[in-house]
Amino acid sequence: MQTILKVQNLKKYFPTKKKGVYVKAVDEISFDIFEQDVFALVGESGSGKSTTAYTVVGMYEPTSGKIFYKNFDISYGVDKRPLKLKQEIQIVFQDPGTSLNPSKTVLQIIGAPLTIHKKLRGKSLIEEVLKLLEMVELPSDYLYKLPRDIGGGEKQLIAIARALAPQPSFIVLDEPTSALDVSIQAKIIKTLLRLKEELKLTYLFITHDLSLVRNISNRIAIMYLGKIVEQGPTDRIFSDPAHPYTQMLLSSIPVLTKDEEALKPKHIESTGEIPSPVNVPPGCPFHTRCPFAKQICREKEPPYVEIEPGRIVRCHLFSNGTDGSSKDEEEVQTWS
Ligand code: SF4
Repeated sequence: MQTILKVQNLKKYFPTKKKGVYVKAVDEISFDIFEQDVFALVGESGSGKSTTAYTVVGMYEPTSGKIFYKNFDISYGVDKRPLKLKQEIQIVFQDPGTSLNPSKTVLQIIGAPLTIHKKLRGKSLIEEVLKLLEMVELPSDYLYKLPRDIGGGEKQLIAIARALAPQPSFIVLDEPTSALDVSIQAKIIKTLLRLKEELKLTYLFITHDLSLVRNISNRIAIMYLGKIVEQGPTDRIFSDPAHPYTQMLLSSIPVLTKDEEALKPKHIESTGEIPSPVNVPPGCPFHTRCPFAKQICREKEPPYVEIEPGRIVRCHLFSNGTDGSSKDEEEVQTWS
């Protein structure tokens, strides 16, 4: 399994109007994405998942930490990245309504990266754009349409075709279906999965929707207030969620049948809203909402603990005394 992307101790802080006070949008996270993974970064609004995505693609420069793409250090903004790297790493944004230039035709939108990266012009440019339209199953008469003449789902397919134009290996998908009608979300996901297989792509999939990632990702990282609290294989996280926050998210997924309900973890009632990332609580950042919080949770940040191969949890109940706390076997067992 070749590592495509390695993120090490990444931090992205934004200054506020108050001197010395920062929004800690991403706070020392690490993860690896392997070739042809669909790696899902999941969390509520304000968890830092989109900031992570934008830092990976170079829209933001890291405050500290490292990002490696195929062993090349890319811990800097997109302006400083060589053209070949820009070509290899692409992004599809949440809202195609704002990510497509309203005054450009589909030919110009998809053609722009082909002109920059492949120097295509004239007939060869049109032929290449037509091939890309075919790949996302849109007809050739879309070529001269403007975004205002196209529906939301088709706009997102145009955005996907534009991302494919430079022939990338790695695509960041930033909530690619959340701005679309439910009726067309399935088509977009199906298209993305087909393209991944056909073109041997690797995805970083950003979403707040755990029920969606169950069917599309093979590995998941759960973010809370800028930190990863649990990560591991999708099937293990769904069958045996370890962190109380993961359990809370999973227990609130809507289900249709009693059988599905029986598979869900015991309902975990969280207390309160997600705190502001400007004012992250001390100790474990989840302690203000966690029904299992103990004194140590309010005082000490839990360490990362590998509870099984490839499965990492950040919770004092699993820290096994490595930071002075002791593992509470009884409580752990009741969660699984
Ligand atoms: Fe809850 Fe404590 Fe674990 Fe944080 S460290 S999730 S507060 S039990």
